[in-house]
Amino acid sequence: MRRWRTSLRVLFGFVFLCLLFSGGSYGAPSLAEELLVLKGKILEEDSKGQAVLALQRVLSALGYDPGPQDGVFGPRTLEAVKRFQRESGITADGIVGPRTVEFLERTWARKFPPETYTLQPGETLSMVCVRFGVSLDEVIRANRIKNPDLVYAGQTLVLKLPDRENPRQDGQGGPEEPERPVPADSTEPPPAPHVPFPTPDKKICLTFDDGPDPATTPKILDILSGYGIPAVFFVIGKNAERYPELIREIYEQGHTVGVHGYEHAPLAGLSRQKAFLDLSKALQAVERVTGTRPAFWRPPGGAVDDMIRDLTRELDLTLVMWTNICGADLKASSSDEVLRGVLNYARDGAIILLHEGSPHVVEALPRIIEELARRGFGFQGLR
Ligand SMILES: [Zn+2]
Repeated sequence: MRRWRTSLRVLFGFVFLCLLFSGGSYGAPSLAEELLVLKGKILEEDSKGQAVLALQRVLSALGYDPGPQDGVFGPRTLEAVKRFQRESGITADGIVGPRTVEFLERTWARKFPPETYTLQPGETLSMVCVRFGVSLDEVIRANRIKNPDLVYAGQTLVLKLPDRENPRQDGQGGPEEPERPVPADSTEPPPAPHVPFPTPDKKICLTFDDGPDPATTPKILDILSGYGIPAVFFVIGKNAERYPELIREIYEQGHTVGVHGYEHAPLAGLSRQKAFLDLSKALQAVERVTGTRPAFWRPPGGAVDDMIRDLTRELDLTLVMWTNICGADLKASSSDEVLRGVLNYARDGAIILLHEGSPHVVEALPRIIEELARRGFGFQGLR
């Protein structure tokens, strides 16, 4: 079942890219096909050939200088890959596999949004705008959409106005796509106020503690993938051992997997040896599945003392706390409260703590993402 879901997701991803690169007409760089060449490849230092050339062209277009574009994965290309990985918050091992390609795609989508995009089943206007980092208001104007909730799968959207400095004049230079009637059988969504959101100029990081959890992790992953945004999961080691397939999915979808202890008991105040053992077991539980040792950890209960700080250094980890005191969700009795708990602490560079087990988190998540996007935030993992 899980494998089936993953295959389906890969298939969707491929179809999405095909649509993106064939249907959409791109502006400046005409290199989008290069990303398709990278699909399914593993490239590392000393690799050679067409795929390496494709990688070099993509890196260069994204602003990471790979040296001469000669199809040889040399030291300068390696440096460019590592810098991209570091800045994307993924393991900077210099190896280009599915995860790095996933991040190259996401970064590409935001840097070079296509001029048009065809909505896929289950996608909303907001999802598409967040994914491509384009202004909802501009898309609404460009497509003369009266109600942003009344869009439908198969609808082709103009994502960019032809000339940003000289917006559409009435009846002139507007998109060719006319408003289409909504199919009669579609259920009427509740009316939502139209509040546009701008092109993102600030960054925020969403983190989910205490998983993986079969009741919530798949739902959270589906929402994040709908918006095409990365997040961070601080997982409990023993849960990771119990649900390795969830760890694999989190990782393969390009999110950061950090650890949150093995037993989820506060480690501060324990003997150094006990704390070391707990944390090491948690790291191993993840590494066994992903093949990558987590670089980030969050202490259970946020409990930190000198021993914990030493241990963090010794294990070459980065300790990650959070910006929103007490989390956004622990005392919340509704998704509105979870949303408020996030928004109260939203600022550039903020790290937002949410718990997988909190009852309103999944329900609140799409609104959290859209409201943050509306306030000009883009989303990032950890670096
Ligand atoms: Zn916890």
